[in-house]
Amino acid sequence: MTIGAALRASTRRAEALACLVETFKACGIEDPKREAGITLSAASGVSPIALIVAPQEPLGSAARKVEEFAARRAAGEPLSRIVGKREFWGLDFTISPQVLDPRPETETIVEASLRLLRDRREEPLSILDLGVGSGALICALLSEFVHARGVGVDVSAAAANVARSNVEACGLAGRAEIRLGDWTRGLDGRFDLIVSNPPYVPSADLLRLPREVRNFDPRLALDGGIDGLDAYRRILPGSRSLLSGGGWLMVEIGAGQAADVLAIAEQSGFVDASTDKDLAGLDRVVAARSP
Ligand code: GLN
Repeated sequence: MTIGAALRASTRRAEALACLVETFKACGIEDPKREAGITLSAASGVSPIALIVAPQEPLGSAARKVEEFAARRAAGEPLSRIVGKREFWGLDFTISPQVLDPRPETETIVEASLRLLRDRREEPLSILDLGVGSGALICALLSEFVHARGVGVDVSAAAANVARSNVEACGLAGRAEIRLGDWTRGLDGRFDLIVSNPPYVPSADLLRLPREVRNFDPRLALDGGIDGLDAYRRILPGSRSLLSGGGWLMVEIGAGQAADVLAIAEQSGFVDASTDKDLAGLDRVVAARSP
């Protein structure tokens, strides 16, 4: 049975699960069993454990929602978007179509910050996140640097609203401010840490991205211009005068961009530039220091 044959209120959980696995397998989803379990659990509001313990229970009124979630997943929509939630650095974030779905590899920036600023964890640091999106990065950083204050900037008003509600939900509203803005334009003050996960996909590569990304992440958060480096050419020079002496800049980068971004860092007057790898072993972050 595939999702084409409608799930009914009388369909048992185990049957529904088998149906979702088949459907997901047929449309090439990588880990159909895992995703079927999460989809069923999220749509029916039943914990994964309960699905295992009571597989013979009927879906009841959840059947329609299970069917809707499964059809959307089968059409390529990521589960995080269907559910509207994503975990990042152990914190829960709400996401909307106007923000990039936070990726595990972006946690590399948090790790790099903890390493390079390990002696300053107790200080009242000031942190800036350019292109704050959902707010995942600034919230993760403020959760680790417990005396720090943060500013998050985004050019999208819709994204800024999502970031504000996530800052609040994480209990960080007292230490974070979300502003509308075009990268560093109009900002003043001094920051000890500036981070960004900017759009870095070369425009011509956008069509080649997996459909989960291409059809569901906002283009504004992906499109890095002809060579993918447009945002770094704005962010790096603009950040230099906003960093306090010895302050760090950390940006996420895409595949093959390390040498170019390291060169932009050097041209922009940064020192001690280096790269950090993500869990897949790819250069994912360029970190550089203000002299
Ligand atoms: N990491 C994203 C991808 O899946 C790109 C995000 C970005 O451009 N910052 O390609």
